Formats: sequence, C-alpha cells, structure tokens
Amino acid sequence: MNDKVRKPSAEPLLWEMGARGRLAFSLPERDVPEHPLDPALAGEGPDFPDLSEPEIVRHYTRLSQWNMAVDTTMYPLGSCTMKYNPKTNDRQAALPGIAGAHPLLPPPLSQGLLRLMFELEQFLAAITGLPAVTLQPAAGAQGELTGMLIFHAYHGDQGRRRTKILIPDTAHGTNPASATLCGFTAVAVPSGPDGILEPEAVARRMDADTAGIMVTNPNTLGLFESHIREVADIVHAKGGLVYADGANMNAVMGQVDMGAMGVDVLHLNLHKTFSTPHGGGGPGAGPVCVSAALAPYLPVPRVVLTADGFTWSDDFPRTIGRLHAFYGNFGILVRAYSYILSLGADLTRISPLAVLNANYIRAGLRNHYHLPYDRPCMHECVFSDKHQQAHKVTALDIAKRLIDFGFHPPTIYFPLVVPGALMIEPTETETKETLDRFIAAMQAIAAEAVEDPERLRQAPLHAHRRRLDEVQAARKPCLTG
Ligand SMILES: *Cc1c(COP(=O)(O)O)cnc(C)c1O
Repeated sequence: MNDKVRKPSAEPLLWEMGARGRLAFSLPERDVPEHPLDPALAGEGPDFPDLSEPEIVRHYTRLSQWNMAVDTTMYPLGSCTMKYNPKTNDRQAALPGIAGAHPLLPPPLSQGLLRLMFELEQFLAAITGLPAVTLQPAAGAQGELTGMLIFHAYHGDQGRRRTKILIPDTAHGTNPASATLCGFTAVAVPSGPDGILEPEAVARRMDADTAGIMVTNPNTLGLFESHIREVADIVHAKGGLVYADGANMNAVMGQVDMGAMGVDVLHLNLHKTFSTPHGGGGPGAGPVCVSAALAPYLPVPRVVLTADGFTWSDDFPRTIGRLHAFYGNFGILVRAYSYILSLGADLTRISPLAVLNANYIRAGLRNHYHLPYDRPCMHECVFSDKHQQAHKVTALDIAKRLIDFGFHPPTIYFPLVVPGALMIEPTETETKETLDRFIAAMQAIAAEAVEDPERLRQAPLHAHRRRLDEVQAARKPCLTG
C-alpha cells in the first residue's frame, strides 16, 4: 500500500462555486399571468449560491463517495447487523399507492395497507413464536421502553408494585437505559466465566420486588444464553416476566421459538434482521412481540380484521397507549414485508449462514488476535486488542487502519465486559471471497502492529479525513461545512 498522506482536499464548497444567474433546473414556460410577490412578504432570504446541474450532481456524488456504506463495502459493525438491503424492498416501498398513501385514509380506502401491517404482524409472530405484535415502536430502544411499560402495566394489574429489573452485564446498553426511563432500578447480573448467564446468579437476585429480567440473546459476546429456559423458570416462579432483546435475531431466526424459551416480551429490529436501512438515527422500526397473556397491553391503535375487512381499533382498555404518531414508520414496515415475502421459507437459511460467516472469521483471526471467550460463536465474534497492546496499538488504531484497507471498522470497546473489544459481525450477505479479503486485512494489520506500530497510530492514512475529535463531533456537531 502507498502510504503517502493525501493532501487536504482542494474541492471547493458549494458557496465558492457557481456564478450569478446559473441555474440547475428549467421551468416550463409560464401559461398564467404574472403575479409578483409582495416585497414586504419576500424579505431578505439567504444568499444561496447559483449553481449548474453538473456542479450540484458532482458535489453530492463526491460527498456520498467519501462515506462508507453497505452498498460500497463490507460493514462488519458488531451488534448492528449491517447486512445488504435488497433493492427490491425500496422499489415496493416506492409504489405510488404505498408511498403516496395519506396516514388518515379511511379504512375502506386503505385495505391493502392495513392488510400489509396485519400480515407483517402475523409473520413476525410466526418467526418469534410469540402470538401478538405491535409495529409501532420506531427503534429497538423504543421497543424496549414499550416492553418495560407493558411489564409495569401487567404488574399493576396484579396489584403489585415491583421496582427492579435484572440485567446481565452482557446485555446491550440500551436495556438498562430503557428500564431506568420507565422508572425501574436496573440490577446488574454478572455473567459466568464462559460469558453466559448462570441460573444461580439470577436465583440469588430474583425477589418479590423484581419485575423481571431483560436478556439479550444471543448476548453481546455473540454467545447463546443456553440456560435461558431455566432462567425463565426462576423468574416466572417469583411472579416476574422475561424480556428478550431480539435485536440479535439474525443469529437465531427460524432456529429457536422464543415463546418456548420462556420469553414473554421481545423486540425485533427491522433495520437489522429484516434488511431495512439504518438511517443516521432513523427511521427504523422495533416491533414488539408478546405472549397471549400480555396482548391486551399492546399500544393502540391496532389493526383488526372484522366481517367488513381490516380496520383500526382503540378498543383495548388495558393498552399502555400510543408510542408513535400514526402507526409507526410505515415505509420501513413495507420493506421488511417485502424482504420476508421475497425470501419465504429461505428465511430459515439466513441465520446458519450468518453464524457460519462469523465463525469463519473467528477461525481465521484467532491466531492473530486475543479471543477472550474461545468457543464457537453465534452471528458475531468478539476479539480484543490484548496482544497488540504490547506494541502500544489499541482497538481504535486497528479500527482506523481497516479504513485504509477499504473496510468499515467493527464495533470497538463494546461489549464493556471485554477491555479493548473488537466486535465483528459479518452477516450472511458477504461472500467467502470478501470474508477472505477482510481476514487478510486484519492479519496484515496484526503484522503491522509488530513491525510498524507508528503507522497504525497514524491511521487512517488514505481517508478524506484523518482522526476526528470524536467527542467534539458527537457533542458539538458542525453540520454546515
Ligand atoms: C441495536 C441494538 C439495540 C437498540 O436498537 P436501536 O434501534 O438502535 O434503538 C438494542 N439491543 C441490541 C442487542 C442491539 O444490537
């Protein structure tokens, strides 16, 4: 690789381009009388640059190429399931009858749209083994909040006040946040030496003040919680409920029945497992699936099937209420529906391939990077920078160097139980050739850590931007240039 540092880009800003009177569009000739705008109303607008169409197209196309995306490179961001999103999903969502539908269309004029939501709920119920579903929550974390509100309402109906929630230390960070937002106190349960939850640890903490447990399964170490049934029995025996964070469903879809595992409430991330795009914070969808006993608490309105066809109903007196304007992010629901229909029974092939790909990477890198839990993983594998630390190279340096090799970095420093974690999730949509290139890049970086650690500390050397001040970028984003 040529490591000559690229000069800061000389491309001008939009404001430095263009010339007075230059236009990027042409309007049809006017066929109505002219009505000049009242100057008192027009005011002094911002002085936008006047640009030609090619100037604009080139500017935005260039900017889009400075980013890494699933459509341009493998994106092994652990816990995020950045799989390829088939374009047919977007085509279906753009159909005029779907994209142009007004959310206030009366049910007689929106039977197809209602049916789509009704059937999507049924598909997700069949996939999870939990019979009732809401599509309203806009993200995984909002699904968790929905689940916690349901826990709270359920215990209230039983005439008891429960204030605590058990959360393993391998849970996703949003779990304790959602429980706390709902007013519960999160009680950490340490995982055992092999990275999974031990039933005794749960039994010691489960008491009559505890509303239940939130388990991420597979957990954030990429390991399946194999004692989940026993854990569920312990929690249920004390009157508690079991919440499963199903954002990692890509590891087990069509392989496990969450209901049979003892789960009462589970959220899914359509923007992970069901191939809908992850926006910069949205829009996403975090449907929540529940047992029959908890169905009355689901948010309203709900789609119901009557003798006259599909309609909306608010007639669920024990509902926790509404979680989102209208019915959730409908365009995202359409994409997930399209994905499920286009794969059909082949949906059951996704998880075995995702797990195979993760284990292929685990095997290819285990002699090069420290593997804190050295056992077969599910859909993601977690390494650490322990070996590279001897050369003062960190997980951050390794991640930044991967950008030079053309890959998006994996998740780093998460899960928190692994210091210097590198959490790699390839997903099922990568080919063996791509996985081999990724493994070769990671091996080359491990060799560089020994031979030329300074180069890693300088990385990325070929990106448009070098090391950013990530704290400032998050706290004080500059979005204008
Ligand atoms: C992504 C993720 C979440 C949160 O989902 P958002 O849609 O980002 O709110 C929760 N749990 C796990 C395990 C996840 O991977």
